[in-house]
Amino acid sequence: MTMAGSAGVGKKKSGGNLMKTVIIGGIAGGLSAASQIRREDHNAQVIVLEKSGDVSYAACGMPYNLFYKDKPVEDLYALSLAAIRNERGIDYRQHHEAVKIDPARKEVTVIDREHSREYKENYDYLVYATGNQPNRLNLPGFDEADVFYFKTLDDTRLVKNIIYEKSPANAILIGSGYTNLELVDVLYNMKVTPIILEKAATILPSFAEEIRSRMLEKIGEKGIQLHTNVDIIEKKGSVVRTATGDFEGDMVVVSIGVRPNTALFSAAGGELGVGGAVKVDRFLRTNLADVFAAGDCAEHYVRQLGRNGYMPLGPAANKQGRLVGSNIVNSNAMKEFYGIDQTAVFKFFDLTVATTGLSERQLQEIGTHYVKSYVDTPTRGAFPGGGTMRIVLMFEKKTGLLLGGQMIGQDVVAKRLDVLATAIYKRMTVFELAELDLSYSPLYAPVWDPLLIAANKAIKEV
Ligand SMILES: Cc1cc2nc3c(=O)[nH]c(=O)nc-3n(C[C@H](O)[C@H](O)[C@H](O)COP(=O)(O)OP(=O)(O)OC[C@H]3O[C@@H](n4cnc5c(N)ncnc54)[C@H](O)[C@@H]3O)c2cc1C
Repeated sequence: MTMAGSAGVGKKKSGGNLMKTVIIGGIAGGLSAASQIRREDHNAQVIVLEKSGDVSYAACGMPYNLFYKDKPVEDLYALSLAAIRNERGIDYRQHHEAVKIDPARKEVTVIDREHSREYKENYDYLVYATGNQPNRLNLPGFDEADVFYFKTLDDTRLVKNIIYEKSPANAILIGSGYTNLELVDVLYNMKVTPIILEKAATILPSFAEEIRSRMLEKIGEKGIQLHTNVDIIEKKGSVVRTATGDFEGDMVVVSIGVRPNTALFSAAGGELGVGGAVKVDRFLRTNLADVFAAGDCAEHYVRQLGRNGYMPLGPAANKQGRLVGSNIVNSNAMKEFYGIDQTAVFKFFDLTVATTGLSERQLQEIGTHYVKSYVDTPTRGAFPGGGTMRIVLMFEKKTGLLLGGQMIGQDVVAKRLDVLATAIYKRMTVFELAELDLSYSPLYAPVWDPLLIAANKAIKEV
């Protein structure tokens, strides 16, 4: 891991006072940075400005919280406010919104929404961890109260409220990305019939056709309406009007992509990069002096591409935040963010859908000479409760270097994906993958683990 020197002031700022860091955004990226600073420097002053009334929470658990009427959404908090303040020694301020950054004066203007007052907070270091926001559907009728965006804990409160208060019979889900697909699964199981409207010709464009076809089979098997190539015109009452027909729903959830929250940063002269995210170097520094960025608002270094990309997911936000914290404390020996391999997983009914490494689309974009092969295998040996899974491997022609892999299936899928992610991280070939000594007991795997079967098939096609 490369180290860098820096003109940073270390644990004490020039006047001899304690180092002071202001963090904008207090969820995964922001709180990770705050905690790491305090872990490494007990004397550091850390202020977290969070505009919502919540503290760091696991957004990934939000769809599943809907199942439980009596389980408060606050159960998703990673830590209580008291623990953040008292145990971690972080000055965490809810309902405090940063509205301006003055990089020359090293000062943030803040509005305390609870007490309707404005104040300025100066900093030695600033961490920008504002996350992203859902793209809005700016069409007539989509600003009504029965239209939801499922992004924050407040959104979850609203959706939960309508589900338990109004008992909707059906829901129109606009967009078929993974968050809406997770919601399809949850709503269906709660007896709210989902109807998916998708603008594109198909779903999951970053997945291989072999994976997508199994998803579509499952959608068909469950009798879920999926309409593709849909151009929405407007919403009138409970009817969503489209160029291909009208759809009636008791509620609407829009999930048509996200964009990084960068307005404050770019207004201060901050430079943006891939996907409109905050441009960061390998140390997660921005172009503004002593301003770092982490999480969904920032770029993510994609190891296999050797450059930054944008893939906003929980683990990267936590890791980037932690590294930013460490780099602030150790400003004379900063470490690089090691990057991501684009590993992701989600559940869809009894299927686990997962990906790691480069997608076929990316391989085509960069012009790699790759081979794709797939296998369908059982997930366990002679033991009840197993299922089947499909593994797609993509690897370099001739060398067999693993480039990417995707899986879909029942039972133990995520474990296999993580083995594959490890293999990609270590730049293994399909030949080496085939040699792995993976565990076997009929309860967990067939004697030839599905990954070994996939690797052996791939070897024949190198
Ligand atoms: C429904 C759902 C399911 C998900 N499931 C998964 C999953 O299964 N796996 C996975 O890896 N990832 C998942 N994610 C993504 C994951 O939750 C995010 O990657 C992660 O939360 C990003 O953390 P963050 O701190 O960068 O941003 P956020 O969590 O968005 O936090 C940013 C915070 O900054 C605050 N803020 C913004 N502007 C200001 C301002 N000016 N002043 C003060 N505060 C401000 C916001 O209020 C917000 O609370 C899911 C996300 C959603 C919405």
